[in-house]
Parts: sequence; structure tokens; C-alpha cells
Amino acid sequence: MRPEPFFSGPGLDRADPLRADAEAIARLAGSPKARQLVWSEGLPAIAEDGSLVWREVSAPDLFLGLDRDEPRFTAIPAAVEGSRAAFGVMSNLSPDEAPIFAAALSLGGWHGRHRFCATCGAPTSIVRGGWSRTCPRCSAEHYPRVDPVVIMLAEYEDSLLLGRQPQYPPGRYSALAGFVEAGETIEDAVARELKEEAGITVADVTYVASQPWPFPSSLMIGCSARASAAELTIDTAELEDGRWFSREEVAAALHGDHSAPFQPPPRFAIARTLLERWLAA
Ligand SMILES: [Zn+2]
Repeated sequence: MRPEPFFSGPGLDRADPLRADAEAIARLAGSPKARQLVWSEGLPAIAEDGSLVWREVSAPDLFLGLDRDEPRFTAIPAAVEGSRAAFGVMSNLSPDEAPIFAAALSLGGWHGRHRFCATCGAPTSIVRGGWSRTCPRCSAEHYPRVDPVVIMLAEYEDSLLLGRQPQYPPGRYSALAGFVEAGETIEDAVARELKEEAGITVADVTYVASQPWPFPSSLMIGCSARASAAELTIDTAELEDGRWFSREEVAAALHGDHSAPFQPPPRFAIARTLLERWLAA
């Protein structure tokens, strides 16, 4: 089976046609089958078996969607956990419910940070079941933001370029990444980031897979690229180290061998999926 990025999958039926109908959403919230997401320390709560925790509806601020015929809601959390502290909590999260976790965390956090109109400064109100905010003063509409990030494996003669950020756990190497800038294509962002961070020129940028990353609202766009030469000039302001790893070395790392030359990224990172797919190809 082809490895899929964590947080991907259909999750809930988003039921977009219902969002414009405030009365229909209110009826769904009053249904005995409706459930509301439980939060714990700024994150959707995760039970011991890895499932999300739901209870009776009391504050249906945001309509997350339908699980078959069960409406699912969440309150807007007072604050969300955006730091690496979340990663430990997520290690137990079920892949089936991970897309719901990602949507609720990203959407809940967006509402907390966007209570005022970016155009005129007036307080905004929630519309479309929580998938938009509107300004009563200037009528501007505001939508939850999604920030595209490219994350890529550069290949040269069957070796991969991986880098180390200073905040990584000891031994960890991962794919290089960076935000797509205004006016830039995905392909150009991949080439620019690899040039800036590692000093390499690449061609044949190819899309591989994507992943919502709710810290707070990124969309990770996984790509591959072919480097024209092996010589590296690492930007030490961005990376602590960067180097090429052979297919055997990547295999050893993913298999958890004691002799592996690096620790791979965790299972919920799309960098891990990119490495697994490269190895399987
Ligand atoms: Zn306004």
C-alpha cells in the first residue's frame, strides 16, 4: 500500500451546501445525534485508544460536518496549542480522525486570531457554519487562511539531500522546506529554497503529495527535484547541517537500524511519507 501523509483523508463530510443555511445548522445542532468536540489544553482531546472525544452539544460555534448522519460541531477554543508540545500528544492520534483534528485545530485557532475585520477594524461575526467571518460595517468577507509551504527531496545519483534544523531532536534529519512567497509558483519556490538553503540548482520539480499542517494553517506541498551537482553550500542561518544520504542509509533510518546515520522525521510528518515513497519507488 502506498504510504499516505498523516492528516490526509476525507475525515468528515464537510456538507458545504448546508453551511449557507443557518436554520438548517441550528436544527442539526439540536439533533439528538449531534456531537461536540472536547478540547484539552488547547488541542482536540485524544482518548487512550487514539480516537477523538465527543460529548453532547452545548456551544455549536463551528459546524465541522457530518459523520454519516451525525452532525459534528466544535466550540471556539479559548486558546490553541501551536507549539511542539502538541507533537507528543498527537503521537497516539488515530489516522482516521487526524483530518478532523487538523480541521478543528486550524479553524478554531483562526477564529481566535481573526475576531476583527482586516479591512476596517470592526468586530466580525461568524457565518457559513464557522467557515467564514463577515464584517457588519464594511461587508468584507474573511475566509480561514491556508499558507502553502513547499517541502522537498532533492535527488542526486540515488542519494537524497536532508537537513537538520537546530531545534530538531538529536540525530534527526528531514526534508528542506519553506513558505511559498507572493507571486511565486510551487516549482519556483522549491528551486529557490534549495538554492538559498543548500546552494544547489535543481530541475524536474515534481509534485508528490500534500498534507494539511494545522500549526497554525499550513498546507505542506511535497515535491521532488533533481540536483545538477552534489556540491552543497549550507545556509547555517537556516540549517545546522545538510548532507546527502544514500538509499541504503535512508533505508536503515526508516527501518530503525542502530547503525542508521540519522533519525528520520516522525510518522505524522509528510517528510516521512516522502522518504517512504522514495525508498519504495
Ligand atoms: Zn470591515
